[in-house]
Amino acid sequence: MQDNFETLAIRLQAERTQFKEHSVPLYLTSSYKFDDAEEMRALFANEKEGNVYSRYANPNTDELINKMAVLEGAEAGWATASGMAAIFTTFASFLQSGDHVLSSRSVFGSTHQLLNNIFPKWGVSYTYADLDKLDQWENGIKPNTKMIFVETPSNPGIDIIDLAWLAQLAKKNGIMLVVDNCFATPYLQQPIKLGADISIHSATKFIDGQGRTLGGIILGSAKLIKEIEGFARHSGPAMSPFNAWLLSKSLETLAVRMDRHCESALKVAQFLEGNAVIKKVMYPFLPSHPQYDIAKKQMRQGGGIVTFVIDGGVAAAGKFMDGLKMFSISANLGDTRSIATHPATSTHSKLTEEERLQVGIEQGTIRLSIGLEHIDDILADIKQALA
Ligand SMILES: *Cc1c(COP(=O)(O)O)cnc(C)c1O
Repeated sequence: MQDNFETLAIRLQAERTQFKEHSVPLYLTSSYKFDDAEEMRALFANEKEGNVYSRYANPNTDELINKMAVLEGAEAGWATASGMAAIFTTFASFLQSGDHVLSSRSVFGSTHQLLNNIFPKWGVSYTYADLDKLDQWENGIKPNTKMIFVETPSNPGIDIIDLAWLAQLAKKNGIMLVVDNCFATPYLQQPIKLGADISIHSATKFIDGQGRTLGGIILGSAKLIKEIEGFARHSGPAMSPFNAWLLSKSLETLAVRMDRHCESALKVAQFLEGNAVIKKVMYPFLPSHPQYDIAKKQMRQGGGIVTFVIDGGVAAAGKFMDGLKMFSISANLGDTRSIATHPATSTHSKLTEEERLQVGIEQGTIRLSIGLEHIDDILADIKQALA
């Protein structure tokens, strides 16, 4: 088969059944039958590959995982019920009491909670570093640092780190590099090819892309995924077959959807950059982005998220949000529908003002997730809300 992304995303399917279906069916079964006692023994002893129980594997989750692994250049993968289940499972599989995590400061809110409040209960410590300050990464490594964790581009600040550089730093120090690749998807960025050990996705966002369901995926070497499996089989963060079925079909349109998200987001970023009441626009493929060269090197396109700061703080931000007629006000992103979020009063309201400023969130910061509506309608809505 051709190894073009679009073709693989469509043509890597589970085997057909005797019904010769064209589109893979949904396997709603909690468990599987064995031909005889010997087959049961061999499957449980891991001497034979096959389905046993849907907490472990299912034809729908297998298809999604195989596709994602090929698309991202990973050997293996594991599917979970949500993006957070994927992050929790990864932490729980590899970290133990006494270990230290060096993480980017600007991480998804619930990841922040895991690092700040949940894993410290089990003796795991953390330090935060800024994506754009490389010395903080070099100096942040301790003798007990087991894992480096990053989100790039970051949310909502859209900061970027050179993944190949970071992977080398991690390798040199014998530390595992884990990347939350949710904002980019495998179509725009492939961390494992750049040297990361694990790549994680919240499939809830652009992979589903239609705001319908939750899902998480962990990708890595066969050896590391075996360790994930050792934890996940018994702790049960499994993705449902229905969600896997839906998400695998979503992958068939990922490339065309991302092309449009990115094309429209770039136009929105360019429009905002020329506007007098906008203090700052952050988008990876704007030449004014401080890490534009790195973005160009490691990303196919700039992604679907545009963050900007409006003059006049929280009052002006609120006025802009309330002035939008088509955009949804929501905390989600990566949907067909364009969405506006005010991070300081929603996703990042639990942080102190100082912590918010450290991750690049001002009172006037607004995050836009650019959807798949016609670009003229997207721009018209932004223009009239600014006016
Ligand atoms: C949404 C999100 C998550 C969490 O994913 P869920 O599917 O909501 O659990 C993790 N990381 C990033 C970057 C996200 O945007």
